[in-house]
Amino acid sequence: MNRILVAEDEERIAAFVEKGLRANGFTTAVAADGDTAYDYAMTGGFDLVVLDIGLPGQDGFTVLRRLREARASVPVIVLTARDSVRDTVAGLEGGADDYMTKPFRFEELLARVRLRLRTAARAPEVTVLRSGELSLDLRTRRARSDDGRTVDLTAREFVLLELFLRHPGQVLAREQILSHVWGYDFDPGSNIVDVYVRALRKKLGAHWVETVRGMGYRLPSA
Ligand code: CA
Repeated sequence: MNRILVAEDEERIAAFVEKGLRANGFTTAVAADGDTAYDYAMTGGFDLVVLDIGLPGQDGFTVLRRLREARASVPVIVLTARDSVRDTVAGLEGGADDYMTKPFRFEELLARVRLRLRTAARAPEVTVLRSGELSLDLRTRRARSDDGRTVDLTAREFVLLELFLRHPGQVLAREQILSHVWGYDFDPGSNIVDVYVRALRKKLGAHWVETVRGMGYRLPSA
């Protein structure tokens, strides 16, 4: 049986969705604010989350972004008001699998829920990122370079390499790397990015991180 978390603060809509899902054999729980939604979703006890964007506390975008940052891979279908579809599509970079605009018919939602559950069952979670002969195991946090060596990484080196491997061929600016790996409150004048790039090059082979002058760094695409 599939368990579905309905994160929706409007009681009327939450009840409508819950009733429909139960009638179709799903088990449900409702979270009426963002903090509860995040906590419930992180328990790992749900197969799918129906997530309203306009939630009290942290909004749906924040919940989604935090779930993905925490590597929760649960499928998420976002609910949004029709007049904010543009924001929603931008916000989906946060990792939603699908979205529905309100008002919607229950059958539409049900079809999407079923589709997402099928897709999730088929696609195993990605645990190894690759580019050519370079790979990074997200569970063991070890890299393997093209000469076959297994390389241990520090926590920051791991996050940095993961960032590069998720954007092969793309130039990443220093500020982008700083904010992703070290957070927004880091001194933008710091040369720490260059220091860590040097460390990665030393461990993996210099050709894996290219300098793009005046712009930043790039992992060559395979
Ligand atoms: Ca709402």
